[in-house]
Amino acid sequence: MRLILASNNAKKLEELRRILDHMGIEVISQREAGLCLDVEETGTTFAENAFLKAEAACKASGCAAVADDSGLVVDALGGAPGIYSARYGTPDLDDRGRYELLLKNLEKEERRTAKFVSSIVCVFPNRDKIEAYGECAGEILRAPRGTGGFGYDPVFLVPSYGKSMAELSPAEKDAVSHRGAAMRQFQEKLKAYLRGDIC
Ligand code: IMP
Repeated sequence: MRLILASNNAKKLEELRRILDHMGIEVISQREAGLCLDVEETGTTFAENAFLKAEAACKASGCAAVADDSGLVVDALGGAPGIYSARYGTPDLDDRGRYELLLKNLEKEERRTAKFVSSIVCVFPNRDKIEAYGECAGEILRAPRGTGGFGYDPVFLVPSYGKSMAELSPAEKDAVSHRGAAMRQFQEKLKAYLRGDIC
């Protein structure tokens, strides 16, 4: 089976591909599929935005397409940056600028609890849809640690490891991450779908 990954984020694509490859599914990026899509994320939830991205790639290619919409939910900030994680702060900020802004906004906060969230939606040409969800609970550090991963990984402490997400190996991250959890759920639902069971 072939799936198009509806994402332009190279790091995220690498993670999704690493996990889906284990399932024996041929995964190609939307760019490799010749699609040039920049979908406006107008949804109000992670799941809605994932659906918009997957649906656009499916319609444009005629193939099944899967998308992840993910982000960081910080309790002391009322759930921000949430679905706006990729656009936190001003448009000129890069990943580092965004996590530095986050640290600044939490400077006086004792409450550091947060979670990463991932919603995965797969859309098929016949309009069937599979949805999966995963979370990873942790805390926001006071200073960045580690060089792996992407996004907010350097400032996100994974309590079970006592390390930041950016200090974990790719395999360790997959085992604990929101995307890894969502992907495992997706894998189960996809297997059931391919067997003909209702998801
Ligand atoms: P999306 O591409 O619209 O889903 O935006 C996801 C954004 O959330 C990314 O640009 C990161 O800022 C953040 N994010 C999502 N997953 C992760 C992760 O695994 N590590 C660090 N940041 C993440």
